[in-house]
Amino acid sequence: MTPTFSLCVYCGSRPGTDPVFAELAKDVGHWIGTHGGQLVYGGGHNGLMGLMADATLSAGGTVVGVIPKALVEKESAHRGCTQLHVVETMHDRKKLMAEHADAFLALPGGIGTFEEFFEVWTWRQLGYHDKPIGLLNCNGYYDALLEFLNSSIQHGFMTAAQIKMIQTGSQPGPLLAALVQEAALAARPTELGQI
Ligand code: AMP
Repeated sequence: MTPTFSLCVYCGSRPGTDPVFAELAKDVGHWIGTHGGQLVYGGGHNGLMGLMADATLSAGGTVVGVIPKALVEKESAHRGCTQLHVVETMHDRKKLMAEHADAFLALPGGIGTFEEFFEVWTWRQLGYHDKPIGLLNCNGYYDALLEFLNSSIQHGFMTAAQIKMIQTGSQPGPLLAALVQEAALAARPTELGQI
């Protein structure tokens, strides 16, 4: 069955110290699965990434993992994915993930998550795509980042329009629904057929 939407999620390859983050990752996966969606992610079985993928599969969703071959062992490639793409480079990974996605979402994570989130955001402001982007600010994890971004507007290095390109929220359900709705309004078909 064709998924109703395809969401690319970036999140920690570690679980974090607060169990609330693990619950969040499971909630996101559960929401995707119970809404007939598809998760696109980095293909690892560690940390929040693995918990989210397992929850998506358990809830009946499809999961597309994309992992560079050099990280197959290091990030414990998830062999239970509906599709697992083992690619040559990190650039190939990010390109394939973006092509498969109708929308993007970042959960709590580390530098890999930050890099991926900022990249799709900068790609959007450059006009490379116009897909929705969300930041799930669970338990205030991203408060300091959002504060910094706003201070960057005050300093004249960013614009309010750039900030408005991302949707933020503290609860998965409303933010996921908003991203899926924004993607549907753009009536953008998933690009599964191109792989
Ligand atoms: P982290 O948030 O650091 O735990 O990493 C989450 C995921 O981001 C992992 O699957 C990393 O392999 C991935 N990652 C790390 N660096 C990059 C990068 N430069 N571009 C894309 N993904 C990355």
